[in-house]
Amino acid sequence: MKVALITGSSRGIGAATARELAAAGYAVCINYIEREDKAEELAAALRAEGHAVLTHRADVADAAAVREMVRRVERELGAVTLLVNNAGIAEQHLFQDISPEWWQRIFAVNLGGCFNCTQAVLPHMLHEHAGCIVNVSSIWGSHGASCEVAYSSTKHAIIGLTRSLAAELAPSNIRVNCVAPGVIDTDMVKVLGQETLDSLAHEVIPMGRLGTPEEIARAIRFLADEASYTTGQVLGCDGGFII
Ligand code: NAD
Repeated sequence: MKVALITGSSRGIGAATARELAAAGYAVCINYIEREDKAEELAAALRAEGHAVLTHRADVADAAAVREMVRRVERELGAVTLLVNNAGIAEQHLFQDISPEWWQRIFAVNLGGCFNCTQAVLPHMLHEHAGCIVNVSSIWGSHGASCEVAYSSTKHAIIGLTRSLAAELAPSNIRVNCVAPGVIDTDMVKVLGQETLDSLAHEVIPMGRLGTPEEIARAIRFLADEASYTTGQVLGCDGGFII
């Protein structure tokens, strides 16, 4: 049985990934933190198509809540064979305006979430000598940008985590990769405003448009299901933003 836990999957890239993986034959756990209505709506749509789906509210920054979520997935769907560490938060601030509280929180969610979820699913993967982890980084995980210091620091760290964990887990037949999306049309980038998004699309992104959540979901499924000899890699999905 293929079982995927996708963090932060009530909307955006996570929701598209849940749909993509369900269609590929995975039982999916839709994790959410606040939008229960969205999570249940997505779950109902997937169940209507005959897929096995569980929804579970948990803050990925809370290790105990994550352990409880993973135990429930194991009980109700089966052990997690694919973990997608997608949950993330972002805000743009000048460096000197970043509060210590925000710095702690963005690291706790973006990086701590990867740590908590990975530690919770690993015992079974190690036991089975099989498993796959896909982390969601960003173009700002390999490049810098003004007003993105906190976010970019977490996304750089996710790439470091991916590479080192991949080296450590390869002998256990567990692959760890990440995707690095560019500007993707989700709620996360709406705060930038339509004018900025249009100018990014037409003046900065060589492919002349934003990416869609579905395009990132397909890249995640590719790393999970098809890239069987690939580990420790960063797959850019950015319309040529970073070449
Ligand atoms: P989004 O804001 O629509 O989705 C993020 C999801 O994570 C939401 O469902 C949110 O509720 C959830 N989440 C936030 N904090 C959480 C927590 N503590 N516990 C559990 N869930 C939590 O944005 P998105 O664009 O779909 O982002 C998904 C991932 O893709 C993020 O890691 C983001 O950094 C990354 N990313 C997005 C873009 C982009 O342009 N949209 C670009 C690069 C990387």
